[in-house]
Amino acid sequence: MSLVVCGSMAFDAIETPFGKSDKIIGGAGTYIAWCASNFTPVKQISVVGGDFPQAELDALTARGVNLEGVQIKHDEKTFFWSGRYHMDMNTRDTLDTQLNVLANFQPVVPESYQDCEFLMLGNLVPAVQLSVIEQLKNRPKLIVMDTMNFWMEVAMEDLLKVIARVDVLLVNDSEARQLSGEYSLVKAAQAIMKMGPKYLIIKKGEHGALLFHENKVFHAAALPLEEVFDPTGAGDTFAGGFIGHIARTKDISFDNMKTAIIVGSAMASYCVEKFGTARLREINAADIHARINEFVQLVNFDIRLAE
Ligand code: AMP
Repeated sequence: MSLVVCGSMAFDAIETPFGKSDKIIGGAGTYIAWCASNFTPVKQISVVGGDFPQAELDALTARGVNLEGVQIKHDEKTFFWSGRYHMDMNTRDTLDTQLNVLANFQPVVPESYQDCEFLMLGNLVPAVQLSVIEQLKNRPKLIVMDTMNFWMEVAMEDLLKVIARVDVLLVNDSEARQLSGEYSLVKAAQAIMKMGPKYLIIKKGEHGALLFHENKVFHAAALPLEEVFDPTGAGDTFAGGFIGHIARTKDISFDNMKTAIIVGSAMASYCVEKFGTARLREINAADIHARINEFVQLVNFDIRLAE
């Protein structure tokens, strides 16, 4: 039984008010794989061009990420994304999206991935996400999906088809508003859960994340950090921690999803401390444990109400 992850693998160029990166390794699938492989082996589905460094693929393999489902198109270029963050480091503008290999990507789910118990559909072309679901002979125990405003603008019809097939949808607050047409996040959540997913996670950057299910809601704070270097990939890393924890514990209850959200938040708080995937490559089990403990301390209090 395994965790299958599908998502973009990319080159990114990032500008923040405090610095600028050259073309560095990024992609939703890359961040998810680096993060989730701390908790469980990963079977990856993606596509890269001939320009993607072999050393990067080798580094993922060494982490326990199976790349049999990653196609290498030797004569084409890897997906490229560029973004600029505003002063608040919470909002950003996309400066450039060059789909390159993603434009005609036809995923092929290898036979060895058919034991998929948990499926993480990271940000990618909705038609590709749907194709992965349809190629799996047995429905996974839990399908989690991430997406972004870009796909709401260029592929809404396909996006709604995928959303209807998943158990958990992850979006940020502005995407939840865009998808539902509702300003209130509670109303947005109700509208989105009617589209298919039984669970909805709304990420609010430095303000944490909300988990909705039926009429229940759980809030996880984000750790107040002295310095945020680069928020890119925080959402994907959050997703990797969430699904990594669920896949490791094999427990899909609401209570365990609450823990998974804390794990995701802890991992995301590491991600933003350096540019790109740099920080995720450094941390180990002890660091993760320590950071999760900081989260517990952050919200732990005794309260005695007057009789
Ligand atoms: P996040 O900061 O978690 O929203 O994710 C940022 C990552 O998403 C970057 O590394 C990009 O390469 C990747 N990305 C940006 N736009 C897209 C897109 N349209 N499709 C797939 N991946 C994307």
